[in-house]
Amino acid sequence: MTRTLPSRTMDAALTAATDPARLRLAVPNKGRLLEPTVALLRDAGLAFEDGTRSLVARVEGFPLDILSVRTEDIAEFVADGVADLGVTGTNLLAEAQADLPVRLELGYGRCRLEAAVPNDSPARTLADLRGFRLATSHPNSAREGFASRAIPVEIVPISGAVEVAPRLGLADGIVDLVSSGSTLVMNGLRSVGELLSSQAILIGARAPAPATAHIASELVTMLGAVVAGRRVKYLMMNAPRSALADIEDILPGLESPSVIPLAHVDMVAVHAVVGAHEVHGLLGRLRSAGASGILVIPVEQLLP
Ligand code: AMP
Repeated sequence: MTRTLPSRTMDAALTAATDPARLRLAVPNKGRLLEPTVALLRDAGLAFEDGTRSLVARVEGFPLDILSVRTEDIAEFVADGVADLGVTGTNLLAEAQADLPVRLELGYGRCRLEAAVPNDSPARTLADLRGFRLATSHPNSAREGFASRAIPVEIVPISGAVEVAPRLGLADGIVDLVSSGSTLVMNGLRSVGELLSSQAILIGARAPAPATAHIASELVTMLGAVVAGRRVKYLMMNAPRSALADIEDILPGLESPSVIPLAHVDMVAVHAVVGAHEVHGLLGRLRSAGASGILVIPVEQLLP
């Protein structure tokens, strides 16, 4: 793995710039994971300067320094102890071959590491790729994906334009990260299977530094509350008391809903937390059961 600055210079610069009593969190300084990571930290109530301008940003009122570094270096920084925690992708952790604990799944940056072949290839499944030459810029995770399925393939590491490798005669197929699959289609390629499913993750040290372990736990709780909040909605509605049993049957909430008497005799307000993906299917049914004035409200943070 290559870093932009020689490893020791970078480590020394980062270590000198931070205080050992403060927790160090490494985050991507550019690319797909940058914006959603900054949004997550801000949603957790952390105030800091735009990390793209400086290597280290201090968080106000919380003992945390944010180190903005290259996405592909983050697992290594955490493994080396330069950072206590890091935001990276499941695929990047696998690629770094760093055996580090995942403290939290962050729910964004979702993609899949897939194997794909030209449309006219006879291969239909991963097992059909036995003996194939596959070009990829994710050689370690690709090798691991095939080894764990006992499918022998030849991995051809290349650094860019992986999709054109079969057309150039460099390989019989490719292994690449896919989200919608449109890049594969545009290049006349067809997926034959998924090797790894990835999302942004918060990784930690194998042995957390004692001086900052409690801050790390607090940060994990804070970020976990934001991630959990994003998965749910708060529903509020009014209903005749006689409709309550039907409404309770419809609501899949975390716990039983709150039922609050209203000034009008025989009317109640019903409040419940439901899965964000469930709301769509609930509204019509709640209306039919007698609910009115239904409000769907975002939840900033949730601590179950
Ligand atoms: P970057 O190359 O810096 O934009 O970041 C790439 C990382 O973003 C990958 O290693 C994945 O963890 C994640 N990611 C999410 N969706 C995709 C996608 N469609 N293609 C490539 N990487 C993705």
